[in-house]
Amino acid sequence: MEEAHTCIVCNERKQEGIRIWNQFICLSCEREIVQTDVDDDRYAYYIERMKRIWLEAIS
Ligand SMILES: [Zn+2]
Repeated sequence: MEEAHTCIVCNERKQEGIRIWNQFICLSCEREIVQTDVDDDRYAYYIERMKRIWLEAIS
C-alpha cells in the first residue's frame, strides 16, 4: 500500500499525486491546476501556493 501524503492545495491526505520540491500535490488538484484558466481566480491561488513552495525550497 502506498503512503498517503497531505496535499498542499486541498490539505487532504491522498496517495496519488505528484511531488514537487518535497511537497505533495494530489492528482485531482494537479489536474485542476492544469485545466484552470489563467483568468480564473483559482489559478492565481494555485500559483501563489506553488510560489511559496518554490521559495521555501530555494531558501
Ligand atoms: Zn489536493
